[in-house]
Amino acid sequence: MEIITDVNLMQQRCLSAREQGRRIAFVPTMGYLHAGHRSLLEEGRRRGELLVLSIFVNPTQFGQGEDFESYPRDLTSDAGLAEAAGVDLIFAPEARDMYPPGYATYVDVEGLTDTLCGRSRPGHFRGVTTVVTKLFTIVQPHLALFGCKDFQQLAVIRRMTGDLNLPVEIVGMPIVREADGLAMSSRNVYLSKSERSQALALVDALRLAGRLARGGESSAAAIIEAVRRRIVSEPDAGIDYIQICRKDSLEDQPVIGRDSVLLLAVKIGKTRLIDNAYLFEEV
Ligand code: AMP
Repeated sequence: MEIITDVNLMQQRCLSAREQGRRIAFVPTMGYLHAGHRSLLEEGRRRGELLVLSIFVNPTQFGQGEDFESYPRDLTSDAGLAEAAGVDLIFAPEARDMYPPGYATYVDVEGLTDTLCGRSRPGHFRGVTTVVTKLFTIVQPHLALFGCKDFQQLAVIRRMTGDLNLPVEIVGMPIVREADGLAMSSRNVYLSKSERSQALALVDALRLAGRLARGGESSAAAIIEAVRRRIVSEPDAGIDYIQICRKDSLEDQPVIGRDSVLLLAVKIGKTRLIDNAYLFEEV
């Protein structure tokens, strides 16, 4: 396994791998890897011949006052997990090389980014789609793997890839959870002991909603109200959004259907957590 920080060197490596006919699988991340990232890497290892992992805490997807500075970083431990998962190349560029002085080009997906996290984090998806486009151009992947944990991000990236005719297959992977159900996230390290147990309200609420839906409740408003009550029962929980949306368009769905997804963003203390589930699938 090799760690490359230089943008041009990385691109040359990947271009020549492609010329040799090697199938490149790519997993973009912000590092501080956990078992969720590992599942993406393992699937990439199965599907590709050259497995590339990027680790880049992308400044353009963080808003003012968000946690860019404090976002957890540990390249040494990440390299150990990556090596064990069979990664061939880690791309870990510096922000000044990805966005040199005078940088002026951004990719914007309209519509899908107006709702959910796009509404509460203005500019976030513009940063994501811009960096993913740059990474695709540098890494030249045949396929790229993303987690359904970031459900809206996956929808936005699928749309971007289709709209721009990018020759990359996008693979969505299931949410990996801790034994008690909390969705794995690099940000979980921010949680105090009490917050960590309050954070279980998210998965608990998803399970409650699933039971209601499968029991015959079809009103999104009724399900959302039950979810809201469960979440506000935690003293340090603050709701950003609770929405039930159609899975592809992310439009609000007043009457639920087989394609309904419940999406949550909740602050536990200062830590913003997201989670989601299809209402008719068990979590
Ligand atoms: P991040 O490092 O948080 O930007 O995440 C990198 C990739 O890993 C994204 O495609 C995420 O959706 C995915 N990911 C993060 N957490 C999980 C999880 N718990 N299960 C599955 N995929 C995840």
